[in-house]
Amino acid sequence: MDKVNKIFPVYLGACSEYNPGSVASIIEQALSQIPLAKPISGKIVIKPNLVMAHPKVATESFTRKEVVEGILQVIRKQGQNIEKIDIVEKSGLGVTTATAFRHAGYKQLVRKYKVKLRAMEERRRSTVVLEKGQVHFHISIAREIAERDFLVFAPKLKTNVLSHSYSGALKLNIGTIDSKERIYHHNYHLPVKIVDILEAANPDLIVTDGIRLAFGGNQMTQQGIDMGVVVVSTNAVAHDMVCARLLGLDPFKIEHIVEAIRRGYGPASFDDIRIMGDFPIEKGQETCKKLDFGFFPVDRFPCNFDIRVGVPYCTGGCQGIFLDWLHMVRDRKPNRLKRFPRLTVLLGKVTGTGEAPVEARKVLLVGDCAAASRGIKTKKIVRIKGCPPSHKRIVWDMMVHFRLFAPLVLPSLIIDGFVLYPLKKIKGWLANLRYKSPD
Ligand code: SF4
Repeated sequence: MDKVNKIFPVYLGACSEYNPGSVASIIEQALSQIPLAKPISGKIVIKPNLVMAHPKVATESFTRKEVVEGILQVIRKQGQNIEKIDIVEKSGLGVTTATAFRHAGYKQLVRKYKVKLRAMEERRRSTVVLEKGQVHFHISIAREIAERDFLVFAPKLKTNVLSHSYSGALKLNIGTIDSKERIYHHNYHLPVKIVDILEAANPDLIVTDGIRLAFGGNQMTQQGIDMGVVVVSTNAVAHDMVCARLLGLDPFKIEHIVEAIRRGYGPASFDDIRIMGDFPIEKGQETCKKLDFGFFPVDRFPCNFDIRVGVPYCTGGCQGIFLDWLHMVRDRKPNRLKRFPRLTVLLGKVTGTGEAPVEARKVLLVGDCAAASRGIKTKKIVRIKGCPPSHKRIVWDMMVHFRLFAPLVLPSLIIDGFVLYPLKKIKGWLANLRYKSPD
């Protein structure tokens, strides 16, 4: 008997404005054609993308509250025996998630829909063993996610230079783990790491905010353009394959999608996907045709730095994060780039210097493995430590050692990142300590 392939439906709904009612009706339309594997009931978790939200410097790169509100309207209408709804997130760059919730306007949802906003760094966490893990054999995730009955992912349709130009449902999972684990193996292993986490947090429903596309540049400070689509599906791999194609990208060149396919989390081909809805995929591709997604080798970034890359080349690690930092400067303060000093930057083990050592007045080594195989002759050498260094570390070290201020170096964010965040972490540590201690 012929094997019947499973078909994965993905719904593209046209939506030109941030209106919760319009988003809700697209989701309902989609769910009238896409069967859910389980009912919307019990403990519901919504995981948006709030890597960064700020009214001035990060205006486009997060899931807008209207989309989450649309999801909440559907949950309230179609859900049965709902015990609670939690919106769980862990923001990026070491700023507090509470601030991201506030800047993104999510606080307005609390009273209206009786939901709780859960900032992961200050909450109790649960350790989950990953039987299929290849980088992570266990992870610490928000307790709400570990104990949920129904998980909704609400990614932002956006590009990201750390993950082959595309960030979507699969990559959203990086925000379900805490910052120590987030940076662990965030190097050439990133695609494997992303898929490992799927074992603990595989969404039951995905609703992507593509009403505006965030593109190019730094993953937090990037610009946006009207795209006019809300994407709904129940499989993260099919969802990302379609969204990547919507942006004119080849999903089979995006390593974490390929890894998820390899591990059987979704369809292996577009033959197994049924695209539905009233938004033609070609329309999205047309919008993206002339956009610069900023994904290129870091040594091609035009600036005064002499950037040299070696091995390994970590798209999700040093090279990607440094490229992301450069984009951050260009996104918001392009003139600042012209004032950059002459600086030689090494990423990875640089071998292409023949017999001669690297010779320069100032040398910056980014990452623990940065080196020159023939040695370095210089007056000043600075290493930004880590494998990879965090965004926060790069921002800080560039400021301290070279007086290069990234546009995110704002007093409010400095206080948030360096004063409030540690306090929130202590709160989270105490919550977990209490939990572990026997009565
Ligand atoms: S330190 Fe080396 S291995 Fe680690 S992320 Fe950087 S380049 Fe990759």
